[in-house]
Amino acid sequence: MITAPTAIIDGEAIAGSGAPISVIDPATEEVIAGFPDAEDALVDRAVTSARAAFERGEWRNMSVAERQKILRNCADAIDAAADEIADLECANTGIPYSQVRGRQVGRSADNFRFFADYIGQMTAELYEQDPNYLTFVRREPVGVAALISPWNSPITLGSMKVASAIAFGNSCVLKPAEQAPLALSKLVEIIQSAGLPEGVLNLVNGNGATAGDRLVRHPDIDCISFTGGTETGRRIMTAAGENLKPTIMELGGKSANIIFEDADFEQALDGALIGIFTNNGQQCLAGSRILVQRGIAKRFIEAFVERAKAIRVGSPRDASTEVGPLASGRHYEHVMSFVPEASNNGANLLAGGKRAAAFDKGFYFEPTIALVESNDHRLCQDEIFGPFASVQIFDTAEEAYAIANRSRFGLVGYVWSQNIATVMEAQAKISAGTVWCNTPMMRELRAPFGGFRESGVGAEGGRAAEAFYMHQKTVSMPCKPLTLTKLGKG
Ligand code: NAD
Repeated sequence: MITAPTAIIDGEAIAGSGAPISVIDPATEEVIAGFPDAEDALVDRAVTSARAAFERGEWRNMSVAERQKILRNCADAIDAAADEIADLECANTGIPYSQVRGRQVGRSADNFRFFADYIGQMTAELYEQDPNYLTFVRREPVGVAALISPWNSPITLGSMKVASAIAFGNSCVLKPAEQAPLALSKLVEIIQSAGLPEGVLNLVNGNGATAGDRLVRHPDIDCISFTGGTETGRRIMTAAGENLKPTIMELGGKSANIIFEDADFEQALDGALIGIFTNNGQQCLAGSRILVQRGIAKRFIEAFVERAKAIRVGSPRDASTEVGPLASGRHYEHVMSFVPEASNNGANLLAGGKRAAAFDKGFYFEPTIALVESNDHRLCQDEIFGPFASVQIFDTAEEAYAIANRSRFGLVGYVWSQNIATVMEAQAKISAGTVWCNTPMMRELRAPFGGFRESGVGAEGGRAAEAFYMHQKTVSMPCKPLTLTKLGKG
């Protein structure tokens, strides 16, 4: 059994005393770890520790050069423990080891390097239009951040939250998803030795409805960054609203991937497969609605189905595996609940739609594709969050944009065309926070990443994070002695 702490507070690992939570390996369905839920007192203690660290001011008042050094130490510590972190992430989430070790652990380390670089280049506003006054805008860390992260990509998303919150001088309390806390907890433990003052980074492990709720309602929390489902986001934002606390909400997606007739066929095909089948299809930014123009539809769909059927589904530890098991039994049931829909109301199942045959244990689900007539179909409107694509055929560009935008989500959009005019029109007309043109998933950390409509509020990224994690304070002073009205002097 792997041991996981209920909390890490002031650098110390603590075993809680709440109800036991079991951690399951989705590839074997075996319990691989367990820990007691964080009770209220432990959540409070974590917040108190973060608050005390902030008030002591050691971290926020440190020179930028020193803070950069420690952030880079965090990155180096993650790199040095990359194998261990990857093993845990793979065992706990079912994401193929090749994707975790090949990309995600490095990305987690780079999140710290990115924000270390960023704070070295920050600039400030200064106003001199009124020649008698100098006005400048200070940036100050907001205080204590509550960071709530999901299970679908725990280390990349959790490390992004921690790196961005602390880089600007804040303290934080991180609560990973209770289903997948192992690698992220290890990552937090590992970076405790990088030189962060005690209490700057605390962790609590526990259920969302109890520990998470306690954390986001705590009066000593100054801001909340949440990544997870839209309904949870609604609940957290409501709680935050009661306390007038600012939030970043990174929520669900149902993104359109528009493939025009003049696309580079092979690139669009590769990109569409990557867009829906990597990370076991459990990605907020998945291109889960594939819209293909009629002239190439038959050829494209045939090729897409053929390739999807050839995807290697297997143990996440096997180097050749391309799609591993879904993350939990509950999530497997959720994804399965869409299968009957794939042969109903104008939908046609083209591939998958069942448990992967070779496994009698584990939450293995075959890469699945359904051709769907209407965008109103549930397969095109609800977030399935698995290796499950809907495909629709369109005739004109206007029709494609209308389908893409008729969604309560608006996280990302993809467009494939070799005609620059088409690409320029599409990026303007797609209503989503990020548009990828002729590429799958290019996450530029300097740029904002956030969703429109029910996909979120606010954004992560370089300047967006700076705006969220720092107060602006305007300071004005005269450049020469003032002649002030002398009240009370007649
Ligand atoms: P979830 O909403 O169930 O849980 C996310 C986190 O919130 C967990 O840590 C959970 O414990 C916590 N939580 C649950 N209820 C809470 C409450 N009342 N108060 C405080 N915390 C609470 O989401 P999930 O199922 O873990 O993640 C999948 C979802 O996340 C998908 O919808 C996906 O699209 C979304 N997601 C979005 C992005 C993005 O950047 N937009 C990235 C990844 C995942």
